Amino acid sequence: MSCDTMKPESKCVWIPGPVIIGAGPSGLAAAACLKERGVPSLILEKEGCIGSLWRLKTHDSLQLHLPKEFCQLPYVPFPSEFPTYASKQQFISYLEDYADHFGIKPMFGQEVQWAMYEETTGFWQVQTSETRYVCRWLIIASGENAEPVTPDIDGLSNYRGELMHSSTYKDGTQFKGNKILVVGCGNSGMEVSLDLCNNGAQVSLVVRDKLHILPREVFGKSTFALSVWLMKWFHVKLIDRIILLCARLILGDTNEVGIKRPEMGPLELKNYKGKTPVLDVGAFARIKSGEIKVVDGIQRFTTNYVEFLDGRVEEFDLVVIATGYKSNVSSWLKEGDFFNREDGFPKKPFPNNWKGNNGIYSVGFTKRGLLGTSIDAQRVAEDISRQWNSETKHLHLKLEEMKPRRLAVQELNSFFAFYKRKLIRNLYYLDARR
Ligand SMILES: Cc1cc2nc3c(=O)[nH]c(=O)nc-3n(C[C@H](O)[C@H](O)[C@H](O)COP(=O)(O)OP(=O)(O)OC[C@H]3O[C@@H](n4cnc5c(N)ncnc54)[C@H](O)[C@@H]3O)c2cc1C
Repeated sequence: MSCDTMKPESKCVWIPGPVIIGAGPSGLAAAACLKERGVPSLILEKEGCIGSLWRLKTHDSLQLHLPKEFCQLPYVPFPSEFPTYASKQQFISYLEDYADHFGIKPMFGQEVQWAMYEETTGFWQVQTSETRYVCRWLIIASGENAEPVTPDIDGLSNYRGELMHSSTYKDGTQFKGNKILVVGCGNSGMEVSLDLCNNGAQVSLVVRDKLHILPREVFGKSTFALSVWLMKWFHVKLIDRIILLCARLILGDTNEVGIKRPEMGPLELKNYKGKTPVLDVGAFARIKSGEIKVVDGIQRFTTNYVEFLDGRVEEFDLVVIATGYKSNVSSWLKEGDFFNREDGFPKKPFPNNWKGNNGIYSVGFTKRGLLGTSIDAQRVAEDISRQWNSETKHLHLKLEEMKPRRLAVQELNSFFAFYKRKLIRNLYYLDARR
C-alpha cells in the first residue's frame, strides 16, 4: 500500500510531525500541547468545522454536564464570565477561540478511510478520499461518540412512523402537543425528554435498565466536584454511599417512579464499566409529577405502533432514539494491537490507554470526558516531543515552515527506497537526503 501503488490522480503528502484524526476537543488539545512543545501537527477532520459533535449532533439547550473547571482544555481556562455549566454555544465559541489561540488550522472535509502502519518504511499511511498522508506519528482523536447507536429492536427497520436519533434532535418547539416516545434514559434521553416537556409535548420515556440518577448539585456544590474532593480521603464505596444518601434526600426514591438503581454505586460502576450516571437537570421532577411518563421496555415495533413488554400497544407522533454513540475506529484503522476491533476503544483502559506501538496514540478514549482528554493530550505530546526533539534537532525547521510539504510520488518512492536500504528512521537523514 505504499505511494507507488496509488491511483495517479491521488496526492501523497509527507507530514513531518504527527497526523491527528479529528478536530473535536481531543484533537485540538493534542495539537495545542504539541505546539507548546514546538512540535507541528496536522489535523484531518471529516466535517467542515471544529467541534462537529457539539455543533452538529447536539440539542440546542445542551449545557456542559460538568462544571467548567473540569471541562477546560490544557493551558486555556474558560472565560470568567461563563456560567459554571457553559452552554453549547459557549463551549463551541471556547473551542474556536482555543484553535485561534494556538493557530490550529485543521484540514476539513478529510474523512479518513483507512490508516495503517507500513513495517518496511516505519511510517503510518493515512488515506482520505483524494490524499495519502505519510507520517511517523498517528494520533487517534476521532471520539468515543463518532456514530449514533441504534438499538436492535424487533421490527424497528419496518417502522413507518416518524423516527429520529437524539443526535439530530435540536429543539422541541415544533412538537407542542405531540405524543412522543424517547427510547433510552442516559443524559441525552433525559435532557431531550425535558426539552420536549418544556415545549408542551406529551413524553413517554423508555427505562429498560437499572440506572443511577444523581442531582447535578448537592447543597449548591457540583456532585462531580464533591466526589472528586471526597476521593482524596475516602474509598469509592464510601463516597458512593454518601452520594446516594444525598441523592435520596434531594431527589427522593427513584424506585417509586419505576427507575431502579444498580447494585453497584455510581462511581464504582463508572470505574468498572464506564457507565456514566445521569446528572439530573430537571427531568426527574417532571417524572415525579407525571409530566414525563416512565414506560417499560419495548417488545417490538409494528408498522405504525409500538408494543411494550407489558403488552400495551401505542401510537406515537415521534420516536426519539437516545441510545448513545459508539467509536468508529474499527471501521478504518487497520491495526489490531492497540485498538480493540469490537468496540473501537484502546485495549488497555485509562490510564494506560494513550500509547500503542510504532508511533500510534489515542486522545479522548478514557470514558472520563474532557478531563480525560486533557490528561491524554499532555501525555501524548510529552512522549512525541521527546522523540521529535532527539530526532529532529538538526533539522532546524521553523514552525511557520511546517505546513504539509507535498512530495511528488517519485520523490517519495526514492525516499522510501533510501529508508529500506539504510534501515534508518531518523528525520535527520531525511533532511540530508533532500
Ligand atoms: C451530549 C453530550 C454531552 C457531553 N457533555 C460533556 C461534559 O459536560 N463534560 C465532559 O467532560 N464531556 C462531555 N461529553 C463527552 C464528549 O465526549 C466530549 O464532550 C467531547 O466532545 C469529546 O471530544 P473528542 O474530541 O474526543 O470527540 P468528538 O467531539 O466526537 O470529536 C471527534 C472528531 O473526529 C471527527 N472524526 C471522526 N471520525 C473521523 C474520520 N474517520 N476522519 C476524520 N475525522 C473524523 C469527528 O467528525 C469529530 O469532529 C459529552 C458528550 C455528549 C455526546
